[in-house]
Amino acid sequence: FIKEENKNDYVVFQHSFTEGFKERLTLETELHKAIKNKDFVLYFQPQIDIKNNQIIGFEALCRWEHSERGLVAPSEFIPLAEETGLIVELGEWVIREACQQNKKWQELGLPKVKVSVNLSAKQFLQRDLVHKIAQILEETGLEPQYFEIEITESMAMSNEKYIIETLNGFQNLGVNVALDDFGTGYSSLKYLSQFPLSKLKIDRLFIQNKTEQNKAIVKTIIHLSHSLNLKVIAEGVENEEELHFLNSEDCDEVQGHYFSKPVPNQEVLALFKKKISK
Ligand code: C2E
Ligand code: MG
Ligand code: MG
Ligand code: MG
Repeated sequence: FIKEENKNDYVVFQHSFTEGFKERLTLETELHKAIKNKDFVLYFQPQIDIKNNQIIGFEALCRWEHSERGLVAPSEFIPLAEETGLIVELGEWVIREACQQNKKWQELGLPKVKVSVNLSAKQFLQRDLVHKIAQILEETGLEPQYFEIEITESMAMSNEKYIIETLNGFQNLGVNVALDDFGTGYSSLKYLSQFPLSKLKIDRLFIQNKTEQNKAIVKTIIHLSHSLNLKVIAEGVENEEELHFLNSEDCDEVQGHYFSKPVPNQEVLALFKKKISK
């Protein structure tokens, strides 16, 4: 494998190592072992309230700490974890780790914020998901309002009735659900009125590719969110110009490299200090 070391970033493989049958088998075997040994780490990316510039949450993003390959990006292993069903065990580790971490920040006296976790389709279709998450919250002592779930539009497609049941379960538990990568999937507007969601996440595609059409789409998603009483957050904000545009269009929250890349737990404290003293 040819890899490029990227400062503060994971390694980028020029050949995706999911390519080819042999690589896939190797990867699958390694993934099994890694899950058993818990060779993963969560990075946290702050979510900022656009009006007062305060951190209001962190998205937890999973990386694989591979002994030879270094830090491996989720795009390299989440799809295989999903296919093989390993995602269920990995996903549970992610949820528990994120809750524990957030609870620890609270115990350090940091301002209380939310931690959000990405769920894959297979995880979301687990019959006991709501119960499992309720259990983890109780175990870790994190109050439900400080935990959030991110699902994507494509997941919402599969089994409407069951999805609504699960989402109602989360609502009863007091856990918020955000619709991730909004605008890139196949969602029907009907779902937005039927699903008890709390937030739309505008995909970074619309933020970074600043055509007139994309700007119009961003404005429309913001208005749509507010009309439906949902919060709206923009992903992938990388510069002042993008922030300014989103602020002028009344977007609620922002997330992106302009504020911070995802960072390991040890760097979260410094992020808080930076914001608090700003
Ligand atoms: P996502 O949930 O849409 O997460 C946002 C992705 O955008 C993250 O990539 C983040 O590092 C990246 N990002 C954030 N701000 C910027 C920016 O300003 N510019 C650019 N170019 N990128 C930005 P990451 O960490 O590589 O994760 C990729 C995807 O992998 C996530 O997309 C999510 O779908 C999935 N993923 C990550 N962790 C987990 C997990 O624990 N479970 C599951 N099921 N999926 C996960
Ligand atoms: Mg996400
Ligand atoms: Mg996203
Ligand atoms: Mg994405």
